[in-house]
Amino acid sequence: MISKKMFEKLNYQINREIFSAYFYMAMSSYANSIGLKGFANWFNVQVKEELSHAQIFYNYLNDQGERTKFLAIEEPNDDFLSPLDLYEKTLKHEQVVTSLINDLVALAREEKDFATDHFLAWFIKEQVEEEANAKELIDKLKLIKDDGRGLLMLDTELATRVYVVPQPLQQANN
Ligand code: MG
Repeated sequence: MISKKMFEKLNYQINREIFSAYFYMAMSSYANSIGLKGFANWFNVQVKEELSHAQIFYNYLNDQGERTKFLAIEEPNDDFLSPLDLYEKTLKHEQVVTSLINDLVALAREEKDFATDHFLAWFIKEQVEEEANAKELIDKLKLIKDDGRGLLMLDTELATRVYVVPQPLQQANN
């Protein structure tokens, strides 16, 4: 049993996770359009991760006996300028998501909703990783600057990223 307010916020988070997938899909498409297939792959994996996040929230609402209400997904900004710009926008976006997750935890604690607090712990950890991954790539791209060979080497590295089913979905066997 979760409160109405908690339901609404968790339900909205599903929308944000699906929006994230939409946003990263736009980034993947941009990367493809400038010939960086490895970058495109990295963002495609990110799309799958974001859809998994939505699924994890959906499963939790389901477990709590709630019916998810699907809200409209807005058009993402796709005025991307460069590979560096992609990761600067990724970091900015993930920082917003982190603050949303933090707000959820704060509400869970305020309401003494220990089940939701516990459920959200995985996302707190996940957001640290999301931000660290974006920061690492920003640093690398700043080192590369205008060196085309460096960019192609990084593209080859990013082509190797594979999607791994997140641990909460492995447990749920979904
Ligand atoms: Mg996410």
